[in-house]
Amino acid sequence: MATVEKSEKGSGGKKGAAGEIPVENPATGEIIATVPNMGADEVRAMAERGRAVQPAWEALGFEGRGRVLLRAQKWLIDHRERVIQTIVSETGKTYEDAQLAEISYGASAFGFWAKNAPKYLADVKVKSSNRILTGKKMILRHRPVGLVGVIGPWNYPLTNSFGDCIPALAAGNSVILKPSEITPLTSLLMAEMLEECGLPSGVFQVATGLGDTGRALIDEVDMIMFTGSTATGRKVAVAAAERLIPCSLELGGKDPMIILRDADLERAANAAVFFSMQNSGQTCISTERVYVEAPVFDEFVEKVTSKVADLRQGHSTGPGTVEVGAMTFPPQLEKVESHVADAVSKGAKVLVGGKRREGAGDFFEPTVMVDVDHSMEAMTEETFGPTLPIMKVEDAEEAIRLANDSPYGLGASVFSKDVERGEAVARRIEAGAVCVNDAMLNYAALELPMGGAKTSGLGSRHGAGGIRKYTEQQAIMVSRFHPKRDMHMYPYSEKVTQRLGKLFAVLYGRGDRG
Ligand code: NDP
Repeated sequence: MATVEKSEKGSGGKKGAAGEIPVENPATGEIIATVPNMGADEVRAMAERGRAVQPAWEALGFEGRGRVLLRAQKWLIDHRERVIQTIVSETGKTYEDAQLAEISYGASAFGFWAKNAPKYLADVKVKSSNRILTGKKMILRHRPVGLVGVIGPWNYPLTNSFGDCIPALAAGNSVILKPSEITPLTSLLMAEMLEECGLPSGVFQVATGLGDTGRALIDEVDMIMFTGSTATGRKVAVAAAERLIPCSLELGGKDPMIILRDADLERAANAAVFFSMQNSGQTCISTERVYVEAPVFDEFVEKVTSKVADLRQGHSTGPGTVEVGAMTFPPQLEKVESHVADAVSKGAKVLVGGKRREGAGDFFEPTVMVDVDHSMEAMTEETFGPTLPIMKVEDAEEAIRLANDSPYGLGASVFSKDVERGEAVARRIEAGAVCVNDAMLNYAALELPMGGAKTSGLGSRHGAGGIRKYTEQQAIMVSRFHPKRDMHMYPYSEKVTQRLGKLFAVLYGRGDRG
């Protein structure tokens, strides 16, 4: 078994025993568990097991699989306190962040996929316009790929990591989940949950480990779903290409928020603060930069600054204790710090926050910056922290131009009391999802596709595409009437060939037939 080489990244520099990864509570610095660092052989054995049991899982059909998923939905609600405690302890996030964005998502996703998998994956009867095929039965079928690999990040161990496994299972696949080394405990609890809910053994397995475990997983599966950084996403895409397996990538973002001069400034300020600080800013669709039209800039900044100054930050010990929790991933502290330092060195002004919090745990103070521009990393690179840089713009045109001046294109938001104008601006933003007078909430609509434009990803989760990606299209053609020999079969004869030529001329000779 391999030793833990990267543990300084995952666990604040604390090494575990050989082959073990220590899991740390980032809000307290305490080591709360260790998990195995699985090697390629273990991943291969898991893959064999997953493949062996997949046909029986598929054979249960949508109804049989749906029953297991609905039992899991109830389990999640019945055991929510235990799940929240697990999530909070390994991520350092607040109780509310775990309840709102993880429990509620997981519970709704189980119901959604149990109900909608049969609809999205139903056989489609096809009629061909080709007259030669008249009388044949044709079906487009979505068959499960077999064994799906999911590589997940640390920011939402239930929603982002495990969440992608739900549609893969609903489609009839076996799944191996490789959670982030930082947050493996929630995934292991989800495995326990599915077993208690009657999922056949081996259909869902968790491969704990480091990046090498993720690489080994790509070598074994029929399809890979990855969520994480754009840099690692590229490596995953290359590895998938080598094996010619499909991949779906949900990557980084730098979501802009545009505040038009006619916006409800109180709502816009509340939204800017919540959607930038929620989960300590460690959400792929966090609000990462704000553009405000000049006439309302000062009032907006004043509102935002006083709201951010009032936020309580610390170790969440239960409901209502703090608004902002810890940074889950220790290197994030350095990244946030360096983005703030870079901005300040180029002329930005910090209005509130701006530094790490002293004392135990990994905390960065909720931070508001002004006098920012696109020469600064804080406005162009994914920060993934509790920072809110706000830039003054002359008009909506400048805001749209700057919003689109990014290699990323995951989400965006626009605030205006004129909702038609807001929508018109939204349509001009180069992003996978744009909210008007809201942000991020599109994620809760499982009917809507969620995926990134530009370097923010490939493919999408949710909606029909969010489950069809775990299947392969299969075309079935059944010839119900089958003479001994069709006229196009051997042997060829001049007469038949000429007759067919005349038929094609009649069918297509006018240039108007589909
Ligand atoms: P990564 O993209 O490096 O990690 C995501 C997952 O991929 C982890 O499970 C990781 O394992 C695994 N992994 C790493 N290398 C490979 C590889 N070559 N092949 C297969 N799997 C691999 O993200 P980080 O955790 O390093 O975070 C870096 C940045 O990514 C953050 O600062 C943030 O900007 C962004 N991010 C975006 C997220 C999103 O929701 N889109 C979520 C999390 C981060 P291991 O943890 O063991 O390295």
